[in-house]
Formats: sequence, structure tokens, C-alpha cells
Amino acid sequence: MIFFFHTNTGDNMSLWERKVNKEQPLLLTKEKEVDVLIIGAGMTGLTTAYYLRKHPSICVVESGKIGHGVTLNTTAKVTYLQERIYTKINSATNEKKAIEYLKSQRQAISNLKKIIEEEKIDCDFKRTPSYVFANTEKEIEPLKAEYHFLKEQNTPIKEATLPEKITTYASYSVDDTYTFHPLKYLEGLYQILKKCKVPIYENSKITKIEEQEGKYLCYSNHTIIKAHRVILACHYPFFLVPFLLPLKSSIEKSYIIVSRVEKDGGYSCISSASPTYSCRFYHDRKKNYQISLSESHNTAFQQDDDKHFNRVKDIFGLKEENIVEEYTNVDVLTPDHMPYIGKLKHNMYIGVGYNTWGMTNSILAGKILSDMIEYKQNEFASLFYPWRRNFVQYAKLPYYLFGQTKSFMGAKLKKKKDWYPHTLTFKRVDGKSLGIYIDDQENKHIVYNICPHLGCSLLFNEREKTWDCPCHSSRFTLDGECIKGPSTKDIKYKG
Ligand SMILES: Cc1cc2nc3c(=O)[nH]c(=O)nc-3n(C[C@H](O)[C@H](O)[C@H](O)COP(=O)(O)OP(=O)(O)OC[C@H]3O[C@@H](n4cnc5c(N)ncnc54)[C@H](O)[C@@H]3O)c2cc1C
Repeated sequence: MIFFFHTNTGDNMSLWERKVNKEQPLLLTKEKEVDVLIIGAGMTGLTTAYYLRKHPSICVVESGKIGHGVTLNTTAKVTYLQERIYTKINSATNEKKAIEYLKSQRQAISNLKKIIEEEKIDCDFKRTPSYVFANTEKEIEPLKAEYHFLKEQNTPIKEATLPEKITTYASYSVDDTYTFHPLKYLEGLYQILKKCKVPIYENSKITKIEEQEGKYLCYSNHTIIKAHRVILACHYPFFLVPFLLPLKSSIEKSYIIVSRVEKDGGYSCISSASPTYSCRFYHDRKKNYQISLSESHNTAFQQDDDKHFNRVKDIFGLKEENIVEEYTNVDVLTPDHMPYIGKLKHNMYIGVGYNTWGMTNSILAGKILSDMIEYKQNEFASLFYPWRRNFVQYAKLPYYLFGQTKSFMGAKLKKKKDWYPHTLTFKRVDGKSLGIYIDDQENKHIVYNICPHLGCSLLFNEREKTWDCPCHSSRFTLDGECIKGPSTKDIKYKG
């Protein structure tokens, strides 16, 4: 296994990106029939497959490479100290649910630890204290409420001074939490699944699912898989109906900078309110890295990556010469701060909406979904039931609708303003909207600049030279290849 770091060349590759000396990816070219099909090989998909590894008929399909979805750009803190999530869940639902959520997160940590220890997965899983801190004076009292909640639930939370130069107004810590290397963990699961003969087909994107005679016909870009039961572990479902996820969630984008530091700080931290500041450390081959994150925002409302990256540098006092990587990442936020895990419809299941706490919630999803497949009870199944209803969901509906409309229209309006670089022009040909980018070598890159998922206008990301959907975070290369869902189609111009 060879790990490599890119200097900051604008490639925007994750710290966890690596070359692995493994065999060629498995490709699915022939029709196949299975009992359980898992779509997506990130934390959710592979953890679910791990729990189902003894099942006689199961396979995993992945549109790209294992772990190269949202998991690739995560900061991988494994903690139950999640900003002020318990007081937020309490206000959105009730105290009982906040207590249950806490229990679920602690159980997820111990489940992950168990998998790693029992299977001897070498993934730098390390006990690392977590801190949460108030980054404004106004946050002191709300954070105190979170502290009292966690104290009453017998967690080892204590008042503690954050060993970081940023200004804090109050801070607390727990020490029974962890950090790890998520791609090494997935590599470990991949090896176990291989031994158990659970096939994982890479470069196999599912583009459509149809129901036929009690089975699902799942169309990949190469063939059809017939499955009795389907698990959507693809971060965001690529279809709208039946679940209507865009009306039950928003998408948050964050800016991450990896920089070299002298010492491994040996802790992770996060602020308790917006703007989120968060960091952790990583040690590799005698070098220490700090992974800093900030400037999280709803994708519907802003798009100025340079400004956000500069803010991260200011907040953490990062020096240009120490910076190794810069990249962005997105996750799905839900109105009651808890994920949607469980049955979507007959024989179809989902794990989504982790509110940026997917290291624990994907482990829970793996356990809950595999228990459902094996007809076992799971104590958290009702807490995360995807079809649950509560007042916050209705209260947030106008916000979601406004966000969707704004990003749907906003991108269209921006085209008219002097917002884009001079290298970019827009045209209408045969009633279709085209985006034309002219690169440094004067080559033209022409794409349809409407997202095939739900028709939002795409924004050009000047920094990473991609077309990004502000509504549901699909992404496309300069020449229109879809590199991130929920879109399953390219936007290549066929003129
Ligand atoms: C900035 C940031 C920092 C974070 N830091 C933390 C943290 O410190 N701790 C924490 O607990 N959580 C953190 N999270 C959250 C966590 O990273 C995610 O919730 C988690 O990685 C999601 O895993 P997943 O397997 O559900 O999704 P993914 O990793 O995206 O996996 C889904 C897979 O499905 C594939 N796929 C998609 N569509 C299809 C299709 N049609 N056919 C086939 N395959 C498909 C994708 O290619 C992908 O590989 C963070 C999130 C963000 C945005």
C-alpha cells in the first residue's frame, strides 16, 4: 500500500486518497440475480456488507471506486461530542429521543471499535479526546446546557481548556472518543468481504430501478442486476419519488485544509455553533498534519470557494508554505438532526442524512439495515425510521423550498450577471442551455449546463474546474462526465 500526498496543485485531492497495490477492480458485465443488492461502497455500504457477509446472496455495486464518495473527504472524527446536537434534538423532538440518540452514537463507537479490533484492521484507530467549544460569547449558555445534558447521562464530560490558539469562550471535553483513517478501514472491510466471496463491482453506476414481478431490476451502465431487496447506501438517492428527500433535507458544504504541523496535537475539536470550526491531527510517516475545517454553509446560498478557503486559513492561522491539500465536501442535513435509516418501501432500504456525523451513523446504518435484512429487531430502528414526522419537518419545509428555488433560479440569474470568468460563456442551442469554457490552451469545453437529476442550473466551479449543482450536489467534469450523484447521467454536449 502506498500513501501519497499531493502538493497543492489545484487537484484538490483528499488526505485519505491513496494508491493501493490491489488487483484490478471487479467489473460487472453479465446479468446477475441476487437476494440483496447494496448500492454504494462508502462507509454505509461496506459496513452493511460486512454485517451481511455470511448472507448467501449479496453483492455491492459502486459507481466509482470504493470509498471515493463523501467518505474520501471526511475528517473522520469518531465522537459523540457533536457540536450541540443533543439540545438541538431535544428542541426538535423531545429529551427521550436526545437520550436515545446519545446512546446510539456511543454504541456505534463501540461497534466500530469491535469490528476494528476483532478483524485486526490497521486503520490508525486511536483514542483521541474530543473538545467542543463556544466560539462566541452568545454560545456560552447554550453550550452549558449541552454540557449538563451530557453530564446527566453519565458521560465523562468535563470543563477543559482547548489546546488551540483560536479564541474560545467556553470548552468541554470527553476522552472516550477516537480518530481513524476511513479509507484504511474500508480497505480492511474490502479484504474481509473478498475472503467471504461478497463481490464488490466498481465503476458500476445504477442509473434506474424498476419493479417487476416482486423484484427490482437495477440498471447499471453495463448490465442489469435483479435483486429481491435493495439497500441505498449511495449518500443521496438518485430518484425523487417516493421519499422526496429534497423536501426533507438540505446540503451543507465545508472547506477543508490539510497543513503540515510540527506536533500531533492529539485531540479533535469542533465549535458548538455556526460558523463551524473543527480540526483534528494525523500522523503519517514521521510527518504530522492538521486537518482544519470551517465555513460550512447551505449550498443553496453561497458559492465563493476562494473566500471560504481564505477564511479557514485566517481562523486557524495556517501558513501558505505548510498547506498540503485544500478540498471541499458536502453532507446531508435533516430537520431533526437525526439520520434517515430504514425501510423506504417494500424491500428497499436507505441510510442517509448523517448531519456530518457519518462515521458513527454509517456504522449504525450498517447494523440497523443488516438486522432488517435478517429479520432481527434493532433498538434504534424506530428512532431513525425514515418516514417519521414531527413539527420541525413541516416548519422547515418553506426553508427547504426557498433554498431549492433559490439555487434553481439563482444559478440561472447569475449567468446574466458579470459573475463568471471571461473564459466562460453561455449559449442556447436548439432550446438547450450550453456552458462553454475556454481553457489556457484555447480548447473549448462545451456542456449542457442543466443538471439531469432535477433540472437545476449548474454553477461553474472555477477553482476545481467542475460544474456543480447547488441544489443536490451532483458534480461534473469540464467535459460533462458525472463524477458525483445524485445525477446518474453526464452532461456531455453532443452537438
Ligand atoms: C466536511 C465534512 C467533514 C466530515 N467529518 C466527519 C467527521 O469528522 N466525523 C463523522 O462522523 N462524520 C463526518 N462527516 C460525515 C461523513 O463523512 C459522511 O456522512 C459519510 O462519509 C457518508 O458515508 P456514505 O457511505 O453514506 O456516503 P459515501 O461515502 O458518499 O458513499 C456512497 C457511495 O455510493 C456511490 N454511489 C452514488 N450513487 C451511486 C449509484 N447510482 N450507483 C452506484 N454507486 C453509487 C458513491 O460513488 C459513493 O462511493 C463529514 C462530512 C463532511 C461533509
